[in-house]
Amino acid sequence: MEHRDKVLWQKLLRFPLHIPKQSMISWMIILDRLPTRDRLFRMRISTDQLCILCNEEPESRNHLFFDCAYASYIWNSIMILTNLRDTHRTWNSRIECSAKKWKGKSLISIILRIAWNAFNYLIWEERNRRIFKGGSRTTYQILKSIKEFVRIQLNDKDINRIDHVNSSLCSL
Ligand SMILES: [Zn+2]
Repeated sequence: MEHRDKVLWQKLLRFPLHIPKQSMISWMIILDRLPTRDRLFRMRISTDQLCILCNEEPESRNHLFFDCAYASYIWNSIMILTNLRDTHRTWNSRIECSAKKWKGKSLISIILRIAWNAFNYLIWEERNRRIFKGGSRTTYQILKSIKEFVRIQLNDKDINRIDHVNSSLCSL
């Protein structure tokens, strides 16, 4: 493994959660550099290619954060909670579209950005937990953690809860 990748990997394994500041595009760069199993296989560092979350498909960035049944169940649950539908068929189209849509200061944009950050962080953390520590969490537990992150981040924000859309989003 290149030194640069090693440093990034170490950083990612313990990066603190001040990620709401990350833009969608910077997430794209971060996720692109993760030492996923397909990359490690190509670098001849590992022979094990299977995704540890579903044990069904080879692990790649697109699989881990988009196609994987485990991850997509969690993301779809967030979409249902926020009353949205994610119809994207590829990881790239989700990223490109979300980068355009989730701008601005509306509550839904803020929630989606926080949820997206927490989702990526927790999927990667869960993957590492299973590989290096041997423990595992259910989709329900991850979803609960994402909601908790959103709740904590929103606590510092001044939200107009009189607005009925905002108020129903907050209660969800
Ligand atoms: Zn998977």
